[in-house]
Amino acid sequence: MKDAPYPEDQSVEMLERFGPHLAYMRGTRSATDLEPDRVVKTHCCFCGQQCGMKLKVKDEEIIGIEPWYEFPFNKGKMCPKGIKRYLQNRHPDRLLHAYKKDLSKPEGFSKMSYEEAIQKVASEIDRIQTSHGKDAFAVLTGASLTTEKAYLIGKFAHKTLQTSNIDYNGRLCMVSAGAGNNLAFGVDRAANPWSDIIGSEVVWISGANIGDCAPITTDYVWQAREHGAKIIVVDPRLTSIARTCDLFLPIKPGRDAALFNGILHLMIENDWIDHDFIASQTVGFEALAESVHPWTPRRTAEVTGIREKTIRQAAEWWGEAKTSFLMHARGIEHHSNGVQNVLGAINMVLASGRIGRKNCGYATITGQGNGQGGREHGQKCDQLPGGRSLGNPEHRAEVAKIWKMDPADLPKPGVDAYEIFREVERDKIKGLLCICFNPVVSLPDNNYIRKMLDKLEFFVSIEFFMSETARFADIVLPGSLHEEDEGTVTQCEGRVIKINKVVECPGDARQDWRIIQDICAALGREDGMTFESPAAIFEELRQASKGAVIDYSGISYEKIERQNGVFWPCRSEEDPGTPRLFEPGSWNPIADGEGPFYFPDGKARFNEATYRPPAEEIDADYPFMLTTGRVVSQFLSGTQTRRIGPLVDHYPEPRIEIHPQLAERLGIEDGQWTRAYSRRGDCTLRASVVRTIRPDTVFIPYHWAGKKSANQLTISAQDPISHIPEYKVCAVNLEPANGPPAYAAKLEPQQ
Ligand code: SF4
Repeated sequence: MKDAPYPEDQSVEMLERFGPHLAYMRGTRSATDLEPDRVVKTHCCFCGQQCGMKLKVKDEEIIGIEPWYEFPFNKGKMCPKGIKRYLQNRHPDRLLHAYKKDLSKPEGFSKMSYEEAIQKVASEIDRIQTSHGKDAFAVLTGASLTTEKAYLIGKFAHKTLQTSNIDYNGRLCMVSAGAGNNLAFGVDRAANPWSDIIGSEVVWISGANIGDCAPITTDYVWQAREHGAKIIVVDPRLTSIARTCDLFLPIKPGRDAALFNGILHLMIENDWIDHDFIASQTVGFEALAESVHPWTPRRTAEVTGIREKTIRQAAEWWGEAKTSFLMHARGIEHHSNGVQNVLGAINMVLASGRIGRKNCGYATITGQGNGQGGREHGQKCDQLPGGRSLGNPEHRAEVAKIWKMDPADLPKPGVDAYEIFREVERDKIKGLLCICFNPVVSLPDNNYIRKMLDKLEFFVSIEFFMSETARFADIVLPGSLHEEDEGTVTQCEGRVIKINKVVECPGDARQDWRIIQDICAALGREDGMTFESPAAIFEELRQASKGAVIDYSGISYEKIERQNGVFWPCRSEEDPGTPRLFEPGSWNPIADGEGPFYFPDGKARFNEATYRPPAEEIDADYPFMLTTGRVVSQFLSGTQTRRIGPLVDHYPEPRIEIHPQLAERLGIEDGQWTRAYSRRGDCTLRASVVRTIRPDTVFIPYHWAGKKSANQLTISAQDPISHIPEYKVCAVNLEPANGPPAYAAKLEPQQ
């Protein structure tokens, strides 16, 4: 694709044709007393909690929601996103046809038949792979897809295309947590069901703005508090959960490993550790204890910016507790030191011995709709189904047998999602298929991403709305919304649940798994890619995961419905699943009876959590730390939620949060247009002067596109183990702007 207008997502004609426009309750949808034709139990698509809900359908249109009180996780509760998600159905921006890039049209695209589009995609894949090698065609996918689709797309890349280069947008989300969990426990899943939070003496929340990002978890934490728990929150911002906690640690962005090491130092000094558990259930404590020795409270306070007294208080509450639950999320994970931060948190849990028991828990909070299931079955660059490794000969042979292929034909592990774009720059990747991923908004330093999309010889996007990334595509294929297909997802606790189809795909749109298989057929490579339903894909996934760490072999759609979800591992028809991992005497395929953790000796691993400062420290030119995150009414890159009127009205446009001290110093008033700039780009937004942020830090939510995108500023530094980008800290400067930016006159808030 060449000569795309810039910025593509802000061309007036493109916006007029493809949006984002806003949908509201109108016509049938505003008549709340209407008797629906049917009510379908399913789940919310807008975060990893996956709340149970019922969608009401009238004349094949989703007209509203009803609570699903019996679903055990949320028991009918929902947040604003869940309540308004039905407004994405029958949306005026819904893609009903295939499109091809057409620069003769003001809106940049013209319609084409679905069949013609599929043929074009297949011929371009074939051309690129024949001319430049199999790895020259890459696949980018997403963790909001059902697990069946994630499995199928992994198979499509590894078997059909035999390309190494597939990765997913969980690279932006869960990979630091996953890597840390695998290093410490040998398995990557929340260790406990959320019900274990209620009854814990201490709940520790690090880098998790649960009020905005995981609202139902807030209810669990508040219930714990009502049962007497002390709540400790660590965050650079006084988030809504921090405003109701017992102890707040306002940490400088990027200093979490230092804090965890400092807490462990105090636990050891005060003998607040579980010697029996450490001796019998773990490996590596002595070396770890030595490594945290230099992390005195004084040094910890200097590095983290938290008062020494507060650090001591937190260590005492944590250290002396008999039961506890530690949770973290992207706040500690989105760092070039993200895995070390996660390991630091896990070390605190293991040293306390409080895991694998009721009310003694640990979890990372998944962000995306299928943040858990989407990282389990083969759409990561180094992974095969069941959490198997593409680099492990035994694992390759096991999966190749299910896929009826020679293991030698499976590609080698590929590169991560950001590196795929660097490979485009190096002329190694020439073609790309992208589904359920909006890197133009969501990847850091996203002006670079624009250039790389422009450089591709061929780019195909599968989308339900014309996302900002799809606007770069040569071909856009109309895919399916959450409610237009069925399948499973695995929510934040590790509970596999069932998404049910509510309405049919409109127009020429197809379920994504059909589109992928249509491409395979057009390529003449349909072997193993002729499933007739998501249920058939799930049956193969069960077999492909059997005997692996992430074992779904005992899960069926029927069992999910009967039990309101099934926690993996679940190894047989009789096995009800495993809500709590690591219970004494529990079995796993790696330890084989030796102990509860997923290593041959059954013991958990302490790992030194090395503190490193952020990749880009502040200096005279860029003297403030930028941190990015979410608001409650938006989801990820906003492709869906920036089209839902009431959610946009709730928080219309991104603002730069600034502490009053900083605002005064810079002469910026609340609501004033303010320019934030880094070494990579700049962004002019209104200021929001708030006392709920550190004076040395500014915050911008990342859900918006184009000139409103926070990711114009962020840095593409990545963690060396997980390859997660450092979204949570980079150096910026601020100045009052000379009036509104040019975009303000022509763009609506959501655009
Ligand atoms: S966005 Fe998350 S918390 Fe809100 S309703 Fe949906 S699943 Fe529940």
